Amino acid sequence: MTATRIDGKAVAAHVRAEIAVKVKAFEARAKRLPGLTVVLVGEDPASEVYVRNKGIQTREAGMVSNEIKLPGSTSQAELLTVVAGLNADKSVDGILVQMPLPKQIDTQAIIEAIDPAKDVDGLHPANAGKLNQGIEALTPCTPLGCMILLEKSGVQIAGANAVVIGRSILVGRPVAALLLAANATVTIAHSRTKDLAAVCRQADIVIAAVGKPELVRGDWIRPGAAVIDVGINRVPADGGKTKLIGDVHYASAAAVAGVITPVPGGVGPMTIACLLQNTLTAACYREKIDPKGLV
Ligand code: NAD
Repeated sequence: MTATRIDGKAVAAHVRAEIAVKVKAFEARAKRLPGLTVVLVGEDPASEVYVRNKGIQTREAGMVSNEIKLPGSTSQAELLTVVAGLNADKSVDGILVQMPLPKQIDTQAIIEAIDPAKDVDGLHPANAGKLNQGIEALTPCTPLGCMILLEKSGVQIAGANAVVIGRSILVGRPVAALLLAANATVTIAHSRTKDLAAVCRQADIVIAAVGKPELVRGDWIRPGAAVIDVGINRVPADGGKTKLIGDVHYASAAAVAGVITPVPGGVGPMTIACLLQNTLTAACYREKIDPKGLV
């Protein structure tokens, strides 16, 4: 058996095109555009690329995009002041503080300082709590992207055995909550899980969010299972270069799975698409418009 490769780039482009249409409908009703502000502290090259791409795709979807760049020496108090300003700014619907933050800043304090209504990363405990109680809320972008990829690939989620490897607040926990809300039977595996291979073999759906290159092998995968690889690992390649690989050994897993995401080109492109979706959703909530009824 050879798995069907899920084309995350194509699905993300489709989602962005749908958002662009909804943004026009929002503008017609609210008489303004949704706005996203991204805050970048320091000069991490990977973060700079992410922030640039977020800006480009936000504008392409017809929304207002702003970037605030702060020096790497910014103190926690200074960053909290910037966040408080954005919380109070009526033109800002979404606030995203790009992680990782410099060492002198307490990341959790920043997450908790963002107004939950503008928390398009979905990391504030108020939003995480709502997600775990099955209440509609702003939800972390990468987990939302995983769910859209499963749905668009026709994977049956209700009643499925889903194994999520990883328990971070960014990916593992929220994707497990979304799978549970979609009526899967969910196991969360992590660094202390005994016999991870055996746990994985029970899964109809495997979500790998670990950060360990090619940890998940083909013989861990149940024939026909759906495999979503969230991992992004930069490893040495030929000629002194580097390349990106996932948490799943693609070739051996694709020989067994039913559907599988590649790295790159799988989950990655979905993250920004879902950030745009969250910004529009936040704008709708603030304007008391039902985001599902926009078009
Ligand atoms: P994290 O380091 O916060 O969490 C990793 C989790 O993996 C932990 O909960 C840990 O318990 C578990 N783990 C570690 N070693 C393990 C092992 N040997 N067996 C089983 N579980 C183990 O990482 P994260 O932020 O959740 O990110 C995970 C991966 O996803 C990383 O590669 C990251 O780069 C990637 N990521 C991708 C996107 C995207 O847009 N595609 C977004 C976020 C994260």
